[in-house]
Amino acid sequence: CAVVGIFGHEEASKLAYFSLHSLQHRGQEAAGISSSDGKKLHTIKDRGLVMRVFNEEKLATLSGSSAIGHTRYSTAGDDSILDAQPVFARYDLGEMAIVHNGNLTNAEEVRNGLIKKGAIFQTFMDTENLIHLIAKSAKDKLTDRIIDAVKKIEGAFSLVFLSRKKMFAMRDRFGFRPLSLGRLPNGGYIVASETCAFDLVSATFIRDVEPGELLIFEDGKKPKSIKVFEATPKHCIFEYVYFARPDSFVFGQSVYQTRKNMGQELARIKPVEADLIIPVPDGGVPAAIGYSQESGIAYEMGIMRNHYIGRTFIEPTQEMRDLKVKMKLSPMTDIIKGKRVIVVDDSIVRGTTSRRIIRMLKEAGASEVHMRVSSPPTTDPCFYGVDTPSKDKLIAANMTTQEICDYIEADSLAYLDEVSLLRSVDSDLDEDKYCTACFTGKYII
Ligand code: 5GP
Ligand code: SF4
Repeated sequence: CAVVGIFGHEEASKLAYFSLHSLQHRGQEAAGISSSDGKKLHTIKDRGLVMRVFNEEKLATLSGSSAIGHTRYSTAGDDSILDAQPVFARYDLGEMAIVHNGNLTNAEEVRNGLIKKGAIFQTFMDTENLIHLIAKSAKDKLTDRIIDAVKKIEGAFSLVFLSRKKMFAMRDRFGFRPLSLGRLPNGGYIVASETCAFDLVSATFIRDVEPGELLIFEDGKKPKSIKVFEATPKHCIFEYVYFARPDSFVFGQSVYQTRKNMGQELARIKPVEADLIIPVPDGGVPAAIGYSQESGIAYEMGIMRNHYIGRTFIEPTQEMRDLKVKMKLSPMTDIIKGKRVIVVDDSIVRGTTSRRIIRMLKEAGASEVHMRVSSPPTTDPCFYGVDTPSKDKLIAANMTTQEICDYIEADSLAYLDEVSLLRSVDSDLDEDKYCTACFTGKYII
């Protein structure tokens, strides 16, 4: 998912709307914005892309100088309209809205506890727990209630809260998911999952919200910082591999540069003789460029992507996924014919995409197809906010690399190893700073 918050701008909801467009890659299932005019919150949310959910007329009703927004990619809860965010509620202190990126690992426990005490839930989202925890807290001030509430939850959360007068941004102690702070040209503030949103609205990057930090935005004041938890960073390495947009800086690094590094590392450790390197668009592009620069093998755009179809990964049934891959990617026959091709992708999850692509390239006349993957085998599911399928569906959890190679019908298959991945994102090789659980099974919580 993606979250954004705008504070202190006359057109706050418009800026949130534009920002959500640049964060659309983080979730395509639903989108929503809540704004505050100081007296009342206004919320619009629905299923579908940002472009579908909002129009000029709807945005005009989201008045006020602060706004928070969300694009949804379901990792907890349902695919229904009820599960779109912001989550909005009225309670004894007034009104609040919350947006959340991440996944709470003790959600069920907390929810059952709340239900036993008489709470009623409207959705299956873990985020709804927070509303109840804040409403039930015995503290007088919203700030204290938020602190109370986040101390009862565990797992991954980059959160933005909106009340009538204030905005709050909070990150879990591990900093699994990114969240950055920026300044708007008029002096207001923006927080967003990725810095590509800042570029769009001409905001300047100030810094990341620290793991464990709560930021409080109030009119006429500088954002106030409270350290709620001691920071113990475990940044999601998969943000670099796949999730974030290449023009963003996450956890202090250029995503594009780290992906290119992965390609260069891959060329060094897993070379193969070939005539061409082609990426699986769009995810494989930076790594393929890196591979080409390191190996000296020509980079070509051998596969065209149809951009008007949503991501294939999200489709519920295998049959639909197969069909969508076909609609989405087509080969450039004149470039590929008779050539030994290296095809680069960022990850293999179920193996469906790679199998289909390799078949397609061979049908287009490639004499050899070598698959190179710019991350280690995906062997374990994510419980911290990325929707990887369960272990039984992860091809690398159930087959050896040679078996996968045979299954996808490649002439050779090689992955990046863990150390080379780490080297691509952190020259100090500080492995403690990152979560790598989907590649290593080393879960933090
Ligand atoms: P597969 O077909 O092996 O299941 O999926 C691999 C493809 O899905 C790769 O092209 C990769 O870029 C993409 N992918 C990997 N992880 C994710 C994810 O978490 N979400 C989405 N939407 N796509 C992913
Ligand atoms: Fe990221 Fe993988 Fe860790 Fe999930 S398990 S937070 S996707 S590195």
